[in-house]
Amino acid sequence: MPAKGGITLHLAVIGGGVIGLTCALRAADAGWRVTVFDAGSSRRASDVAAGMLGSLGEGHPGEERLLELSSASVRAWPALIDRLGDPDVVVARDSLFVAVTAADAKYLQQLARFVWSADEAVAASLTEVSAAQIRSAESMLSGRLQGGFLARGEMAVDNRRLIGALRAASDAAGVVIVGAEVRDLAQVDADQILLSAGLDSSALWPGLPMYGAKGEILRLRRTRWSVAAPSHVIRGRIDNRNVYLVPRVDGVVVGATQYEALEPDDRIPQVAGVLDLLADACEIMPGLRTYELSEVGAGLRPATADGLPIIERVDDRVVVATGHGRNGILLAAYTAERVVELLKSGQ
Ligand SMILES: Cc1cc2nc3c(=O)[nH]c(=O)nc-3n(C[C@H](O)[C@H](O)[C@H](O)COP(=O)(O)OP(=O)(O)OC[C@H]3O[C@@H](n4cnc5c(N)ncnc54)[C@H](O)[C@@H]3O)c2cc1C
Repeated sequence: MPAKGGITLHLAVIGGGVIGLTCALRAADAGWRVTVFDAGSSRRASDVAAGMLGSLGEGHPGEERLLELSSASVRAWPALIDRLGDPDVVVARDSLFVAVTAADAKYLQQLARFVWSADEAVAASLTEVSAAQIRSAESMLSGRLQGGFLARGEMAVDNRRLIGALRAASDAAGVVIVGAEVRDLAQVDADQILLSAGLDSSALWPGLPMYGAKGEILRLRRTRWSVAAPSHVIRGRIDNRNVYLVPRVDGVVVGATQYEALEPDDRIPQVAGVLDLLADACEIMPGLRTYELSEVGAGLRPATADGLPIIERVDDRVVVATGHGRNGILLAAYTAERVVELLKSGQ
């Protein structure tokens, strides 16, 4: 147990998004007395996300290190789900990558070749599938699909249920969650501080190399007249654009655009992004036309120039965990393990 003079050491976590809460829970499990300070949900990317745990789908040429971290995190997720004690956080076990045009099929093949060459262990979970195999797995998908890939074990979680489960498990582990904004780390009374305030981390530790990668995302609710939602995560490539459908108990999440935000606080959805997402999603699954459009959202991913998260000790008292970009939910399990190691080095 982390202690000095017989007294348990106190960790203050700044930020109650997926990164702060997962680290808080793991630190409490490692014996720390933990307090989380959180400024609320209005700027929280974790509430906006789709919840894909997509290591293979996030494997792009030039991003070998990210693929390594993502794969390590995918391996750490089952233990985290067990720890949460809420198996219904998981909304899909596998992902299907589907291409609409011949050029889209070529693009997916390129990604697959990268994954196959980059990591032998994960390569085995990615297999090519024909259009007929896709339709037999998910009969409501369009007859226009060219084929694609099945990524076994590429799961998805319900991000909002996850945040609820993390808060409940943290509470049960003795973590105190305070609804308050921290304005100055020097005023925080704790032995160690974890700065995990997402994109706002740089306001408390200037110089962190981050920017907001904006993304529109939609939530569609199934009606009693609608076909069922898919059981896989569907990752579509259509006319050189990406769109994904992530199942929920009551429908699907459709996402997501990605572009650099013009204003530092721009979380307003743009018409163009919404239009493309709806058109592409309905092309891949025509039955979505009868779903209700229950939510149109946008968020800012806390992104870094090299695409890698910032997980490091920056002084004797402060560890930073932020900059997880488009993969913060996926990388939370790995990040928490790494943060607990870094905290040990400060004892
Ligand atoms: C459209 C979209 C889709 C996405 N889809 C996925 C996906 O499918 N899979 C995936 O892995 N990732 C996805 N992401 C990325 C993911 O959402 C983020 O990487 C992740 O949520 C970042 O988590 P975080 O805890 O670092 O930050 P946040 O979730 O932003 O949390 C930061 C928290 O810190 C608090 N805070 C800020 N400043 C202070 C302060 N001064 N004092 C106290 N508290 C403070 C905020 O209130 C907030 O609660 C998506 C993101 C977007 C926008």
